[in-house]
Amino acid sequence: MLLSTTAARCSMLCARRYSASGLFSTQSEFIKVISVGPFAISATGLEATVHTGRHFLQIPGPSNVPDRVLRAIDRPVMDHRGAEFATIVKESLESMRAVVQTRGSIAMFPASGSGAWEAAIVNTLSPNDRVLMYETGHFSRLWRQVAERFGIRVDYLPGTWRTGAVVAEIEAALSDDKDHQYKAVMVVHNETSTGTTSKISEIRKAMNRLHHPALLMVDAVSSLGSIEYLHDEWEVDVMVSSSQKGLMLPPGLAFNAISEKALAAAKTAKMPRSYWDWRELLELSRSGFFPYTPSINLIFGFREALQMLLEEGLPNVFRRHQRHGEATRAAVRGWGLELVCEEPSEYSNTVTAVYTPVGHSADALRAAILAKFDMSLGAGLSKLADKVFRIGHLGHFNDLMLAGTLVGVEMGLRLNGVPHREGGVMAALDLLAPNPTPVASRVQ
Ligand code: PLP
Repeated sequence: MLLSTTAARCSMLCARRYSASGLFSTQSEFIKVISVGPFAISATGLEATVHTGRHFLQIPGPSNVPDRVLRAIDRPVMDHRGAEFATIVKESLESMRAVVQTRGSIAMFPASGSGAWEAAIVNTLSPNDRVLMYETGHFSRLWRQVAERFGIRVDYLPGTWRTGAVVAEIEAALSDDKDHQYKAVMVVHNETSTGTTSKISEIRKAMNRLHHPALLMVDAVSSLGSIEYLHDEWEVDVMVSSSQKGLMLPPGLAFNAISEKALAAAKTAKMPRSYWDWRELLELSRSGFFPYTPSINLIFGFREALQMLLEEGLPNVFRRHQRHGEATRAAVRGWGLELVCEEPSEYSNTVTAVYTPVGHSADALRAAILAKFDMSLGAGLSKLADKVFRIGHLGHFNDLMLAGTLVGVEMGLRLNGVPHREGGVMAALDLLAPNPTPVASRVQ
């Protein structure tokens, strides 16, 4: 009571001071501004919610940005046509090649991942071209929508949203395509809406078995930098990715990794393009420049984030994600809840999507966890809305962050009366800290 009265007095005082300062035209405008976000203090103070400590951002991207990357971004903007910036761009693209596992070209755009989807399409295809896609979930649907908006005819193999792309079905569709109508096979590597990872190397092998000349285009938005992705070895022609997930950056950079075959396709593709055109961008970025103003400060952070990934070593990064994926799934099993992904060999190591029991709203659970424990979890998307919540465990992340995340989920389940078994968190801890010292010997 004392606290809320003090908060009320403080907010009224501040409101008067700020409206007098001219920054806010009215007292109520100031109150609206301070009432947004985790530091919500109402004018009366009665509904005061003051969050202390760190917010847990456990959505599957944007992911947490390391302080080291934030500090790299936090420096004065520089001339993007100067030599210093050109060096930073060239160094970053070189490191990016190591992360993507390619010797080929990388196009970097000031955009979100959706921009890179569009760039992949407009650079390689012509209106009315046919492509083959697999319905892995919400993000494959959205990519399909982008293609159709450009007049591409998409053969969309229906999926259950509970597995990755089924290789045998893709192979069957390709083998029916005797006169090679399909210009591209387009697959989401890690389907962020369901927590499934498709077997890209198997899809490539199927295409090669049939000598099918289609381009292989892969969305690696929520896998790159977290789950093994081997661009050259898997002979991917166009990779789509973005900055805000495994690359541990804020949103705002989008990427295509491009094979020689895709570059050749770009020469004959008839889709109109300007901003997304690879040709001028690749030409200029070889010397560290861009045809337009790039996201200068994000690129400072990009160089730092790539350095962090390479310092840790990609195999270690992938092992860390695998461990956290396994521990999260152990917790879900421990709670007796159901994973969306039904195929153990396709479990995602960056995101786990979990059904709430029928009759229990996943959105209400997420809302309670946010309000009480200041943790954001991912929502169920489109047909999974309100049925599923998603735990992001990717990017800048460690054992204790995962333990905190799982404790937050378990407390939320209790709080909201969602039926579950006790012991999910313990199951995860057993996996994270194997061979614990027996309690008896610890207390001696
Ligand atoms: N592809 C996948 C697999 C994604 O998870 C997302 C976003 O979460 C996108 C594409 C779209 O990227 P963006 O939201 O950055 O445009």
